[in-house]
Formats: sequence, structure tokens, C-alpha cells
Amino acid sequence: MPIDATLPYDDQNVFAKILRGEIPSKKVYEDDFALAFHDIAPQAPVHVLVIPKGPYVSWDDFSAHAPADLIAGFVRAVGKVARDLGLVESGYRLLGNVGGHGGQEVPHLHVHLFGGAPLGPMLA
Ligand code: 5GP
Repeated sequence: MPIDATLPYDDQNVFAKILRGEIPSKKVYEDDFALAFHDIAPQAPVHVLVIPKGPYVSWDDFSAHAPADLIAGFVRAVGKVARDLGLVESGYRLLGNVGGHGGQEVPHLHVHLFGGAPLGPMLA
């Protein structure tokens, strides 16, 4: 069920629990700003989620209110994960679902990183 991305941050969401280590995840990368882990229900041979270490639900809130070092660190983490997974030459896809029409289900900002095979014109 898609969430309302305008609601206040809920620190009991599943990605908050993964960040706090309360729920296990298959970690791909972590630094002071971001955590990347494999999606539990992959939709491509490579399907990784990259999340910022901060209480943000939507891109509009994050881009307007997150500190610059967190924004930069998060964006850098996405690129580093793509490089570390060897996806640069083959290519990859980034997807960010926001709110109801975006189909966002977990109310913690995240980027989906897909790769490992030709993905076609769109992956919804
Ligand atoms: P959204 O629709 O919010 O953009 O995507 C949320 C993603 O989180 C989905 O692809 C879903 O499979 C993934 N997901 C949901 N719960 C868990 C979990 O507990 N662990 C992991 N690794 N992924 C999850």
C-alpha cells in the first residue's frame, strides 16, 4: 500500500530498523551518510536499495532540508555502489518512488539501483 509521503518521519519503518541493526540486511556498502543493501524481493539480477542516514521520506523534503554533506554523501554513495558492483560499463537504472502516485511503500527515502541485465525501456 503506497504511503503518504507528506506525513512526519516514522522511526519504526523497516528501513529505520535496518539502519539501527534491528532487522538484518544484506549490506553492500555503508559510510557516515548512507547504507546500501540488497532488496528483499529483487526485480532484476542486481537490485540494491541505497538510503540516506537521516529521517527523510521524500525527495522534496530531503533536497530542501537535509544538510549539504548528507545530500552529497548520499549521492556519492549511489555512484560508489554502482562502481563497486561493476555496473558502470554495462549500465544500470536508478528509480525513486515518492508517495501515493509514485508507489512508495517504505517511508524512508531510498533509491532503487537495478542492473545486471538489459532492463528494457522501463521497469515499474
Ligand atoms: P518502494 O515501493 O517503497 O520504492 O520500495 C520498497 C522496497 O523495499 C521494495 O522493493 C521491497 O521489496 C523492499 N523491502 C521491503 N521490506 C524490506 C526488508 O525488510 N528488507 C529489504 N532488504 N528490502 C525490503
